[in-house]
Amino acid sequence: MTEIISNPSTNPPRQGTPVLSVRGLSKTYETGTRTRPVLGNVTFDAYDDETVCIVGPSGAGKTTLLRCLAGLMPPSSGTVHLRSDRVTGPPEGLAVVFQDYSRSLMPWMTVRKNVELPLRARSGLSGQGRRARAEKALASVGLEACGNQYPWQLSGGMQQRVAIARALAYEPEVLLMDEPFASVDAQTRSDLEDLTHSIKARYKMTILLVTHDIEESVYLADRVIVLSGTPTTVSEIVDVGLDYPRDQVSTKSTKEFAELRSHVLGLIRTRAASE
Ligand code: ADP
Repeated sequence: MTEIISNPSTNPPRQGTPVLSVRGLSKTYETGTRTRPVLGNVTFDAYDDETVCIVGPSGAGKTTLLRCLAGLMPPSSGTVHLRSDRVTGPPEGLAVVFQDYSRSLMPWMTVRKNVELPLRARSGLSGQGRRARAEKALASVGLEACGNQYPWQLSGGMQQRVAIARALAYEPEVLLMDEPFASVDAQTRSDLEDLTHSIKARYKMTILLVTHDIEESVYLADRVIVLSGTPTTVSEIVDVGLDYPRDQVSTKSTKEFAELRSHVLGLIRTRAASE
């Protein structure tokens, strides 16, 4: 595994204990008589207050990896640790936003009740405390006026904001996002990318976001983990180093952005061609 430093002046080396540690993770699916190795020996760390994007071609095993990280699926071998605790099931301190918001929101519950729902499992939070957290999370995604509406009364982009608010209300240390903007139109996608930057600045957590969109990965990430190969491994971890605040027009028109995008694309293409 190599780590390239694209812009050392804006990128101090990461220090301290990782919040999430993945070591030698592999996953093989067994379906009937068929054995399909999807992930092979994936190793990386994520640190406090950074955004890490995981990119790779469709079918590379990105969702499989994210499910293993979230404790929703056991790996065939290897380990995942959140701080010092080994992940063997969904841990406290970690929340997930899935691509398909329409299936993750309860249509018979108001937006506010949807956001409060997972907080019921959190001990020590009163009804008033749950409500306060839900209101804060809805405000941070720009939906403070929508608490009494139902999900089906909102646009797709707004429904995904509700799903993000629900994860934020949990106040996780690590937020996992699986292709979270893949089901919305291009303009909404840009808005949600910028929302990701703003919630990260406000909540100071670690975000791991899976995407097949290389441009999105460079725009959002402090580091991009490039997955490729069969079975999939980490081919490179790219240090992004673009300044903050980032902007859809000015950041994306810089030479550094273009170079990083080409570099990540090249990694994926080179590996695909050599297989
Ligand atoms: P990505 O998210 O990169 O598109 P996935 O993790 O969804 O990739 O899938 C990787 C491969 O594993 C695909 O070939 C997919 O068909 C297969 N796969 C995913 N889930 C299962 C499962 N539950 N059982 C068997 N095969 C699966």
